[in-house]
Amino acid sequence: VGTGPGALNQITPAAQVAIAQADVVIGYTLYVDLVHPLLRPGQIVEATPITQERQRAQRAIALAQWGLTVAVVSSGDCGIYGMAGLVLEELRVTGWDGKTPEVQVFPGISALQSGASRVGAPLMHDFCAISLSDLLTPWEMIEKRLHAAAQADFVTALYNPKSQSRTTQIAIAQQIFLQYRDPKTPVAIVRAAYRQDEHIVLTTLADCLDAPIDMLTTVIIGNQSTRLHGDWMITPRGYLGFGS
Ligand code: SAH
Repeated sequence: VGTGPGALNQITPAAQVAIAQADVVIGYTLYVDLVHPLLRPGQIVEATPITQERQRAQRAIALAQWGLTVAVVSSGDCGIYGMAGLVLEELRVTGWDGKTPEVQVFPGISALQSGASRVGAPLMHDFCAISLSDLLTPWEMIEKRLHAAAQADFVTALYNPKSQSRTTQIAIAQQIFLQYRDPKTPVAIVRAAYRQDEHIVLTTLADCLDAPIDMLTTVIIGNQSTRLHGDWMITPRGYLGFGS
């Protein structure tokens, strides 16, 4: 179940019902806390630390095989760097027939959408998402995708841009984009969108490393037509003609 960026009213009604009706709610502690007002007495709630994704998926499957309805909560959209894929992969390797236990994926508002909405409309033209986390993806592959996205002028949302142990990746990403894009290209640094500690900086490709960036941040790099207008970031769709 995708729980959106972190405000209760940004969760779809279908996802809210799925969480409220489940026998068991499983998730990373922070996200279980966020949906706490939706929980009801009698539900089994299992909140686990951030690194235990596989255990969480396997536990959910085991409980579902016992006949319980299990809601695995996952921030943003559960199918975008989220738990939906992992649960399905784990089911696949256990020889799942695709039907029992029954699976439903409840979409949520992903960080690139929630972040974009807070700064205006930066995703109005072709865009892509790249995660800078090389824990599960070889860094060479990530660099290849950064080059391709920068070269093809995609508006690009960088997920997992920086953690305490991964600090160089965002600087390399900036250097790659500077090879293809103007240093003045608008960049939005959106931290904790729709949460109480939300923090947003509008800056440029040249200066984007001056802003605080961490694991709760999504970095949105504009394309060659993206412009800043006051506190707004706008990527033209083309209605007003090219280059206006
Ligand atoms: N499934 C999630 C992404 C999980 S990966 C989704 O669809 O949004 C975790 C990354 O998502 C973070 O490192 C950050 O880049 C981004 N993120 C998640 N929630 C965010 C929020 N509220 N504000 C800004 N970025 C967020």
